[in-house]
Amino acid sequence: MSKTEVKDIFKTMEYGPALEDDQPAKSWLKARNGKLEHYIGGKFISGDQTFETHNPANGELLATVPQGTASDIDKATAAAHKALKKWQALSCYERSKYLYALARLVQKNARLLAVLETLDNGKPIRESRDIDIPLVARHFYHHAGWAKLRDVEFPNYEPCGVIGQVIPWNFPLLMMSWKIAPALAAGNTIVLKPAEFTPLTATLFAELCEKAGLPAGVVNIVHGDGKTGAALVEHKDIAKVAFTGSTDVGRIIREATAGSGKSLTLELGGKSPNIVFEDADLDSAVEGVVDGIWLNQGEVCCAGSRLLIQESVAERMIEKLKSRINTLRLGNPMDKTIDIGAVVDKSQVKHIQELVDIGVKEGATLVQPDFAKNTPASACFYPPTMLLNVQPASTVAEQEIFGPVLSVMSFRTHEEAIEIANNTRYGLAASIWTDNINMALDMAPKIKSGVVWINSTNMLDAAVGFGGYRESGYGREGGAEGMYAYLKPKYQKTLKPYSKQNEKPSKSTVSNDETLIGIDRTAKLYIGGKQARPDGNYSIDILGDDGKFIGQVGEGNRKDIRNAVEAAAKADSWSKAPHHTRAQILYYIAENLESRKNEFVDRLRQMTGASKSAAAEEVETALSRLFTYGAWCDKYDGQVHTPPNRSVAVAMKEPVGNIGIICPDEAPLLGFISLVAPVIAMGNRAVVIPSDLYPLAVTDLYQVFETSDLPAGVVNIVTGHRGDLAKTLAGHQNLDALWCFAPEAELSTLVESLSTSNLKQTWCNYGLKRDWYSAEQAEGEEYLRHATQVKNIWIPYGE
Ligand code: NDP
Repeated sequence: MSKTEVKDIFKTMEYGPALEDDQPAKSWLKARNGKLEHYIGGKFISGDQTFETHNPANGELLATVPQGTASDIDKATAAAHKALKKWQALSCYERSKYLYALARLVQKNARLLAVLETLDNGKPIRESRDIDIPLVARHFYHHAGWAKLRDVEFPNYEPCGVIGQVIPWNFPLLMMSWKIAPALAAGNTIVLKPAEFTPLTATLFAELCEKAGLPAGVVNIVHGDGKTGAALVEHKDIAKVAFTGSTDVGRIIREATAGSGKSLTLELGGKSPNIVFEDADLDSAVEGVVDGIWLNQGEVCCAGSRLLIQESVAERMIEKLKSRINTLRLGNPMDKTIDIGAVVDKSQVKHIQELVDIGVKEGATLVQPDFAKNTPASACFYPPTMLLNVQPASTVAEQEIFGPVLSVMSFRTHEEAIEIANNTRYGLAASIWTDNINMALDMAPKIKSGVVWINSTNMLDAAVGFGGYRESGYGREGGAEGMYAYLKPKYQKTLKPYSKQNEKPSKSTVSNDETLIGIDRTAKLYIGGKQARPDGNYSIDILGDDGKFIGQVGEGNRKDIRNAVEAAAKADSWSKAPHHTRAQILYYIAENLESRKNEFVDRLRQMTGASKSAAAEEVETALSRLFTYGAWCDKYDGQVHTPPNRSVAVAMKEPVGNIGIICPDEAPLLGFISLVAPVIAMGNRAVVIPSDLYPLAVTDLYQVFETSDLPAGVVNIVTGHRGDLAKTLAGHQNLDALWCFAPEAELSTLVESLSTSNLKQTWCNYGLKRDWYSAEQAEGEEYLRHATQVKNIWIPYGE
């Protein structure tokens, strides 16, 4: 056999094997007899039923794993409850030390964690070693800081309680750290279910918790499949659910938790655009595409799976990509020279192949590297793939493939790029490649996604919030935003359910004939800046406190709600208006309301029977609240983060969009203003259902709005029966969020349950009454936070 000579190597430039040693990981598994256990109440516990976890790169059995039952979830939740008191009694400093210890332990065990992750998931060791595990350590460090600062930075907040967390298989330990670190830092205890395919590092992490001396029951890990996950999210003693995974399961979880009062954050799928302009450095953009779609075999929720190239450079860019794809190396993920490892499971390979076949059938051109034909069929490999000539409406442009498959499209203009980028139900991330920073910064706010990377991709850091818009979910992980997701305002526990005694008489004490005598006093609806007759032409009698007829309001129906949402959507220039302009208009509304103060006092007295001083106080407080939000308009600013690499991340607080509001009955004017003012101050457009019982205080506001320069469509008001109207609002595809402060708890359930249609954000009172006069309960940053969503724009610097 001829010896390989150096000169031969120079000719081929072929890599030699550079295998990572898997012996320490194998020994770790052997020491446990290849059997994993749940970690409940500080003890490792086996289960009667088990399933197996295999190495997707070679099919080897790695371990048997207990299948968590409802009873295991019960035990884990009870252990977490028991641990709450002790964990919360610790000082912020003490909790911080535990998080710091976990960060250090992750670093000290980095090699073992990386190897276990690669064996279990199939990702290249280079990625688990250089990306996943360092980010895990960083997350615990960062949150050791938040743990210490909790009481200073979040003074009026407290932990939610026991948190149920369900995570996916694509970044098993990283997703676990994103869930566990903020939950612990805020002072919660945890029950977490890892993904069925990737249970190894969760088990090693449980051992690190032991080593860190974390009190028993603070972190509990129950293995299992979707049924175990369902038992966890449905458990009555869970205060909050945090989920990362598919949009379909996110919907199921929203439905399952509707009305329960559990807070919920969902980090779901994506179909993120990678947009390349003609003036971009194409070679950098090519590397960005490689990273964007071929990192982790494309099994990344924020993968840049749609490539949009400006037509003038499309051919050149595609040629470069065709040549680059051939230089990628697919193979044993334990080899340090490998770029593309194994897909997590055969079922996922099948799913990828099915979607690629659909793409080709719908007219796309398949491009795979020459080495694709050598892809080992025995294990879970799928070659890096490009689909050219994809149409924006084709399946592979719309559906998340969650594999190494890039759908390539072209565009002509800046505007067209934005249109195609936003032509998706998702909104997780986007990359923009251009040398024109002005244009990039103009585009970034126009793209509907939680993260925008300029001339970069897949940048992540614990200090920079991550999360989606639209069907990519809600809530942020990382940064201060991520901490709020694990805290609740302290006043919340003081809220009591509504009592039914305050209901007004339902029958008019005057005859129908009488109500028709005289001038018609029917208040219309307020849609698109105009007073509009209800579509059904029906009206509802409004009675005074004494049961006497005092007027009528239009009875809105489904069509009116749809018209109102349409008008709100058209008023999008409000969202782009300068903050100063919005402030001026809020002050102007206050000015015009003040000039008609006596009229509103009389109206409130007539409807509610309030004393003159009580009615005057309601109007005064409403005026003061308008001033509060006029003040906040230009002060609720974003932040500039400085993550450890050479970039800045600009955290912009953007409006959510079209927000529906269901108002309470009590304090009919003040309740309305308390909810509508923060919504419009932050640049949203509102569709409001005022109090069922006392709508006239709000219908009297139409003239105030009309004289205050409020652009048409910014506030739309539909009077009627809130139970019926709420259904249409909650199911509406073009409404981005819905706030429900109705006295009926069942309306909160309905709103949350129907919100799954487009995964709109919801904020509900679950039939608990708040004090609209209390500044703590009824105004301030909590409202502003619900009226905004954070977009992080990453801008690298340096040469
Ligand atoms: P899932 O959404 O099904 O799984 C995520 C997690 O939820 C897993 O732990 C899973 O358990 C659990 N789960 C499943 N059903 C329920 C339920 N009804 N209630 C509570 N928990 C549940 O994702 P898959 O792993 O099945 O992947 C399917 C597709 O989802 C992928 O092809 C990809 O498109 C997408 N995906 C998106 C991710 C993202 O980060 N955006 C991450 C992972 C997947 P189990 O492990 O047993 O299935």
